[in-house]
Amino acid sequence: MQLFTRTGHLSEKALQMSCRGELTEDQEVRQHLEQCPYCRRQLSEVTRFLSLVGSVSVELSAAQVEKSG
Ligand SMILES: [Zn+2]
Repeated sequence: MQLFTRTGHLSEKALQMSCRGELTEDQEVRQHLEQCPYCRRQLSEVTRFLSLVGSVSVELSAAQVEKSG
């Protein structure tokens, strides 16, 4: 599995795993997150997204998007 993209940042898969707590023991990933504000930002975005889709059904969130848009 690819944890880093060609640009040297964390892949989306790695970000998703990190926010589920699955990569907390991966030194490379942890070190990168400590050093890279970009990936920390990406991680917080993914965490926010996953918490949204995790707690709200697809239908509901689609309805909310329509309302707010
Ligand atoms: Zn990065």
